[in-house]
Amino acid sequence: MNIILIGPPGAGKGTQSHFLEEKHGMIQLSTGDMLRTAIKHEEPVGLEAQSLMAAGKLVPDDLMVRMIEARIAKPDCARGFILDGFPRTVPQAEALDKMLVAQGKKLDAVIELKVDEAALIARVSGRFACANCGASYHDTYMPTTKPNVCDACGGKEFTRRPDDNAETMKARLEVFRIQTAPILPYYQAKGLLKVVDGMADMHDVTKAIEAVLNQTPA
Ligand code: ADP
Ligand code: ADP
Ligand code: ZN
Repeated sequence: MNIILIGPPGAGKGTQSHFLEEKHGMIQLSTGDMLRTAIKHEEPVGLEAQSLMAAGKLVPDDLMVRMIEARIAKPDCARGFILDGFPRTVPQAEALDKMLVAQGKKLDAVIELKVDEAALIARVSGRFACANCGASYHDTYMPTTKPNVCDACGGKEFTRRPDDNAETMKARLEVFRIQTAPILPYYQAKGLLKVVDGMADMHDVTKAIEAVLNQTPA
C-alpha cells in the first residue's frame, strides 16, 4: 500500500511512520529527513534548503518534486511507501499524481493526523533524536529507558532540530494552515482522505491508522 501521512509539525507523522515500517514493512519517505541529510553532507540541495528550513518556510516545489520522484522510482518502494512531509502544497500533490501515473503506481489512502496547537507545541519543544542512529524521543512522552542512553543503539549523544523552537514553530504552523491544509480538500474530493485523532496515546493512534488501512481495498 502507498499512503500519505499529513499533519502539522509535531502531529506524529515520523513516529507513526516508524511503527508502520516495523509492523508492515512499508518504507518511510520523509522529505524533512532527506533534506536534513543533504544539509549534513553539504549537498547543493541542502545548501539551498538550509536557511528556508531554519526560518520555517517551505523549500521550492520543483526541488521537492524532483527529490521524491527519484526516490519512489527506487525498487525498495515497490512493497509500499509512507509519504511523511510530502506533499505540502497543492502543486506538489498534483505533481505527485502525475508521477504516480507515469510510474504505474497509485495512492491507497491519505491519513490526516489531527492534533491541537497547544499539544503540537509541547511535542515539538520536547523532541530530540539519537545523534548516532536517528531514533526519535520526547523529554516527557517518549524518554529513553536509561537516562541519556539511546534504547536502539546505546548511543549517548543526542540532537535537537534547530527549527524546533517556539518562534520557528509559529511560522511552521502558519505555513501548514496556509500552504498545506488546502491539500486536504484536494484528497477529500478524490475519496482518499481519512481523519485520525492524533491526540491519543501513540499506540492508539497506530491502531486507528491500522483500522483505516484494513478498511482500504488493496
Ligand atoms: P512529526 O513527524 O509529525 O513532526 P513526530 O512523530 O516527530 O512528529 O512527533 C513529535 C514529538 O512528539 C516526538 O518527540 C514524539 O516522540 C512525540 N509524539 C508523537 N506522537 C505522540 C503522541 N501520540 N502523544 C505524545 N507524544 C507524541
Ligand atoms: P515536521 O516533521 O516538523 O512536520 P519536516 O521534517 O517534515 O517537519 O520538515 C522540516 C522542514 O523541511 C519544513 O519546515 C520545510 O522547510 C522543509 N520541507 C520538508 N518537506 C517539504 C516539502 N515537501 N516541501 C517543502 N518544504 C519541505
Ligand atoms: Zn541510537
